[in-house]
Amino acid sequence: MEKLFKIIFYLSLFFLILFFYTRNLSLFNHFYKNIKEIKNPNDLDVLVNKNNRLNKYYVPSDLVLMDLRYSKENKYLREIAYENYKKLSDDAAKLGYKIIITSAYRDYYYQENLYNYYVKEKGEDYADKCSARPGHSEHQTGLAIDVMGSNNDYNLFEDSKEFSWMINNSYKYGFILRYPKGKENITGFKYEPWHYRYVGKDIAKYIYEKNLTLEEYKKRTN
Ligand SMILES: [Zn+2]
Repeated sequence: MEKLFKIIFYLSLFFLILFFYTRNLSLFNHFYKNIKEIKNPNDLDVLVNKNNRLNKYYVPSDLVLMDLRYSKENKYLREIAYENYKKLSDDAAKLGYKIIITSAYRDYYYQENLYNYYVKEKGEDYADKCSARPGHSEHQTGLAIDVMGSNNDYNLFEDSKEFSWMINNSYKYGFILRYPKGKENITGFKYEPWHYRYVGKDIAKYIYEKNLTLEEYKKRTN
């Protein structure tokens, strides 16, 4: 009898360890499963992620070309996001910070090429960690930006002097840090210190003060 208990105990332990070990693997998570088509792509708080997909033909109707003072190369953003970003960048500049957009609106086909490039170079698992599949990138909304600071490398934005100002002030202009550290299991993306998303000032303030992701915010308010 005692032997049987021992067997059951060790078997349970084994499955428990197996469960915790595998729950981050794609086989056991909910990402890219039960995908919903987005019906309100123009909403400022639209949720685009691994479970909510934009139509491949969706292009925001109010994209504007940004001035090169604010963005590297010719990039487009939705007008409301751009107007608020300009204020953010100008106010930061007054304090001696230099924040430049390196990526903004990206269409479905651009994302398709980008994702396929990662798959080809590094495999699907890697691609899914650092890039969105086409239709699943919020860059297609025209409301998302990747930025760099005065060290001129968006990958190293966290090391720039601009980073702490940005994470503590961007909400005042309607932008949130979209993929925070420690919330990878909720957002489906690794921590991205350089990626911000315009959601409007009220929502951004709420998300900032309560330390939420857009996913958690939507769950609370729906
Ligand atoms: Zn981005």
